[in-house]
Amino acid sequence: MLEGDRDWREERIAKNEASFRLINERLQDGLRRLPHPPELIPFVCECGSRRCTGAVELSLEEYEAVRAHPDRFAVLPDHVFPEYENVVERHERYVVVEKLGVAGLISELTDPRDDDAVDPLAPDLS
Ligand SMILES: [Zn+2]
Repeated sequence: MLEGDRDWREERIAKNEASFRLINERLQDGLRRLPHPPELIPFVCECGSRRCTGAVELSLEEYEAVRAHPDRFAVLPDHVFPEYENVVERHERYVVVEKLGVAGLISELTDPRDDDAVDPLAPDLS
């Protein structure tokens, strides 16, 4: 595989993850306002696959713990891309991964908790 291909793939994976994270942030924000939020919430799997439609079940506390780090994502246990990310936590329902290299940088730039963040869905990021 050419070096350029790898960068492109890495960037695409990071952007997919960043856009799923944005969906989850909105979901979590809505649920937090409920008087009795459900114990486990079906968040969108934040793996880099564009075709993934999986749901990872996390409590609001577990989700918050992942979001405390801008380059960490919650994915299904068999949805890890070891080439681009490190597994930092393994749970029964989900795995927490940390982005490496270019992917990590994109994750930080698109962090929705950062006021200066870049919109991962904006076309000019690529
Ligand atoms: Zn997935």
